[in-house]
Amino acid sequence: MPKKPLGVLVVFTCFLLCLPLSATAARTTYVTIGTGGITGVYYPTGGAISSLVNKKRGQYNLRATVESTGGSVFNINAIMAGDLEFGVVQSDRQYQAYKGLAEWQGRPQEKLRSVFSIHQESVNLLATVDSGIKKLSDLKGHRVNIGNPGAGQRGNAIDILAAAGIDFEKELRAVGLKPAESAKMLQSGQLDAFFYTVGHPNDSFIEATSGHRKVRFVNIGKSIIDKLVKSYPYYITSTTPISYYPGAVNSADVPSVSVKATLCTSIDVDAAIVYAVVKEVFDNLETFKAMHPAYTELTREGMLQGLTAPLHPGAAKYFKEVGLIP
Ligand code: GLU
Repeated sequence: MPKKPLGVLVVFTCFLLCLPLSATAARTTYVTIGTGGITGVYYPTGGAISSLVNKKRGQYNLRATVESTGGSVFNINAIMAGDLEFGVVQSDRQYQAYKGLAEWQGRPQEKLRSVFSIHQESVNLLATVDSGIKKLSDLKGHRVNIGNPGAGQRGNAIDILAAAGIDFEKELRAVGLKPAESAKMLQSGQLDAFFYTVGHPNDSFIEATSGHRKVRFVNIGKSIIDKLVKSYPYYITSTTPISYYPGAVNSADVPSVSVKATLCTSIDVDAAIVYAVVKEVFDNLETFKAMHPAYTELTREGMLQGLTAPLHPGAAKYFKEVGLIP
């Protein structure tokens, strides 16, 4: 057999090796969606969004991945630092960050952009029956998880305790744990109560209400609910649906306040990427809604509510195209 000239072989091998790189890998853009603890609703929400986007990987050359994080506050800070492209964020935290309040006091996060809103998240307080906690004032002296510093719920717990005139630093044995740890610690008796702002149903509450230790959702009381709704623009009245948690001792839905889960990004993220994410979720909304029971009530119009930061231009482009905004 005649020998092939070496030069031809080298060129051919190089062509074979380089082809897949230049045709696919080099053009694929990877984006990460920051979520929350794996027992919450943010984590499956990131999964639902990314699964729709990744179905069209060939069309957009875009691959979305999901990261479990400490929650809303962590996500905003990571988006602003350029470590995450997207994050699920409580609407009250989006408001505070954009306006330079709470954790961002005097430092408005002007590059924060909203994409769309998702499910309602009620502010919940779950306590063991044997702790005797039936109302907010009963929390005094108890071991209460008010939320890890990166979590959205920490601010809600502090708002509620302040409205009730309780000094969490002095009057509670307050801890700052992640929600995934709370359910186990409540059941093992290491924790008396925990706050968690989250959609329903979620694995954390299913776990916390299914053990041998009886637990109840504590009613924060009408006067506190009224005070919160009056004092802050982002709280609305809501109830925690008890039917999802038959192990809890409550016999009726528990009144509370709620905020919305929203998807956020940065002005620095490419409009084509944000457009693709919005288009895949909105064009396939029924498929999206079937992915988690917390999404049952979602409507296209409702998903434009609860947004404080300006819409990202990529999201605005899609909403204009389909007539959702002028
Ligand atoms: N609302 C929580 C937070 O902002 C997360 C809830 C969830 O993971 O579903 O940190």
